[in-house]
Amino acid sequence: MTLLPLPAFSDNYIWVLHDGQRALVVDPGESDGVLDWLGTSGLTLDTILLTHHHGDHTGGVRALREATGARVVGPRAEPMPEPLVRVGTGDTVEALGLTLEVFDVPGHTAGHIAFFCDGAGTGDAPLLFCGDTLFSGGCGRLFEGSPAQMLASLGRLASLPDATRVCCAHEYTLSNLRFALAVDPDNDALQTYAAHCQSLRERNLPTLPSSIGLEKRINPFLRAEQPALERSARAHDPDTPPGPLGVFTTLRAWKNVFQ
Ligand SMILES: [Zn+2]
Ligand SMILES: [Zn+2]
Repeated sequence: MTLLPLPAFSDNYIWVLHDGQRALVVDPGESDGVLDWLGTSGLTLDTILLTHHHGDHTGGVRALREATGARVVGPRAEPMPEPLVRVGTGDTVEALGLTLEVFDVPGHTAGHIAFFCDGAGTGDAPLLFCGDTLFSGGCGRLFEGSPAQMLASLGRLASLPDATRVCCAHEYTLSNLRFALAVDPDNDALQTYAAHCQSLRERNLPTLPSSIGLEKRINPFLRAEQPALERSARAHDPDTPPGPLGVFTTLRAWKNVFQ
């Protein structure tokens, strides 16, 4: 299986997974780049996976479905370009001979879902398509969900195997890492990773996929239980309640206004 990110708009990635004949794409916010790639590669589009309803993730669905007849799979409870197969926690999707597990991960939107493939029998590392829930060094904004929902959703993703390749839908890494370094300044792994990502972006290369093991070491939103993060949250907002939810809530609000 081959995994690659097709850049779209200013900072989106449309993830493609293919077996040399058939492909699936995740969150095609636009169709032109995908159709060009299909034309060049000569592959057939089999499946379109959608994580949530935002236009920069769904805008290319109608044109792709018309051009290719691909099946569309998306969240159970979000406005979506019909017709599609609707899925949520407990469901699985069979595509390209793989089985993908579906998790509800509310927070960024109310009905956001993620797709996970454990890679068993393929020789490949596990794979996670998490849309705008988990980013490298950050997490999605809370447009429709509560901090408690997002913290639980991120906890579900953090419980996946460390080797899981994390396919986020945006190249937000450098901006996330500026905030991460401000709130977790003594984290050696974070400093090393930030230098690595800086060098990738200077060469116009994607910083993704990340991995769950790496994110647990460097992502402040997966580290709200760490004393260093609690100290930073409390220095920013002395009213931060004790415990991971209070710390997460302060960090998420702080990130929204961080320059
Ligand atoms: Zn979104
Ligand atoms: Zn997005």
